[in-house]
Amino acid sequence: MSARTNRRDVLDVVVAGAGVVGSSAALALARAGLRVAIVEAREPEAWRAETPDLRVFALAADASLLLEGLDAWSEIAAARAHPYRRMRVWDAAGGSELCFDADALGQAQLGHIVENGLLVDRLWAAASRETNIARHCPDALKDFVQDEEGVDVELESGSRLRTRLLLGADGAHSKVRELAGIGWRGEAYGQRAIVAYVRTEKPHEDTCWQRFLPTGPLAFLPCGDGRCSIVWSLPETEATRLLALDDARFLAELTRAFDARLGEVVACSARRAFPLERRLADEMLAGRVALLGDAAHVVHPLAGQGVNLGLRDVGALAEAMGAASQAGRDLAGARLQRWARGRESDNAIAAQAFDAIHRTFSNDSPLPTLLRGHLLGIANLSPIARLLWRRAAGV
Ligand SMILES: Cc1cc2nc3c(=O)[nH]c(=O)nc-3n(C[C@H](O)[C@H](O)[C@H](O)COP(=O)(O)OP(=O)(O)OC[C@H]3O[C@@H](n4cnc5c(N)ncnc54)[C@H](O)[C@@H]3O)c2cc1C
Repeated sequence: MSARTNRRDVLDVVVAGAGVVGSSAALALARAGLRVAIVEAREPEAWRAETPDLRVFALAADASLLLEGLDAWSEIAAARAHPYRRMRVWDAAGGSELCFDADALGQAQLGHIVENGLLVDRLWAAASRETNIARHCPDALKDFVQDEEGVDVELESGSRLRTRLLLGADGAHSKVRELAGIGWRGEAYGQRAIVAYVRTEKPHEDTCWQRFLPTGPLAFLPCGDGRCSIVWSLPETEATRLLALDDARFLAELTRAFDARLGEVVACSARRAFPLERRLADEMLAGRVALLGDAAHVVHPLAGQGVNLGLRDVGALAEAMGAASQAGRDLAGARLQRWARGRESDNAIAAQAFDAIHRTFSNDSPLPTLLRGHLLGIANLSPIARLLWRRAAGV
């Protein structure tokens, strides 16, 4: 591939992937005065209130602040975002319960439960209103070649773009990561997470509930009109068995697995399952190509942090690129390298912590069972552990 473009046509940034992370990155960088193109393989579906997306996120406080700065949050919150004010985490083997309360932090809420489809739809619409963003959709990044000054990007449609910086926000199986020759470490957990909306006998109390079972964690996340969204992580075979059950038997097993903490689970929507894996890119930066979101890090959903980490990549990147642009510096210079080092270390710590929690709690061997009974109690009292929880909650 060769650059046949003249200097006028050179973009500042091309973003591959318009999921929550890619769209937010495009918006944040355009707001920083950069010329951006975003390439997305699939046209985002229009969100409709009457057909809720089964994939929901517990969005931390700093993530909604970032979206507010992009003028996207008020529309999202008005459409459907349910505040959660408390977290309760306990282990099936007994011991203490970890409690986390917005009041104790002097906050109105710890975060919001929001649908992926709603976020993608509203961010995509916001990108369409931005004069600094050119959208290429449906189209996909096919190949690229980078040199000292920029990157030539080839799309599936045959279009070519020349840019100073290429961002891969194209998800866990990132083509950008593969073409940049960036390796990754990690593994499939051999688990799937079943997600669905349910109704319970007792109110959810605006609380995120999570019970650790030897098979994996089960979370109930509070949503509008009294429903909860569940994320039930299980070994493959167990997930397959539960997905095949009729509603009555599924609800009975779910009530039992949740120890009837909110009484009987009385109704359930359709169910879907996602395979669970851990992936950490060896680097987030290779020359003029940077990775963010799931392209750089895929973590276990037990702490509800995947998209939150991705949005932290975006916030820090927008700051670094805004400063580089204002100073008239190369976008792929020292600030970008500092961004990559900082985010690599933050993401690696988070991925290892969630992995360690998963290994300790999703386990029925006697020693961890004895240990973990005390761990949540210790975490409840220890200032360091509570500081880590504050960090995860983004407050
Ligand atoms: C069961 C489950 C529960 C979860 N719960 C939470 C939670 O509570 N909180 C939380 O923070 N996270 C959660 N996560 C993690 C969260 O889902 C991910 O971290 C997040 O969706 C990643 O967003 P992304 O924008 O990086 O990638 P994606 O959403 O995967 O978007 C990538 C985009 O790139 C596009 N694309 C791919 N290839 C190309 C190409 N070659 N050219 C152009 N476009 C391309 C795709 O079409 C897609 O639109 C959960 C995950 C699972 C599985």
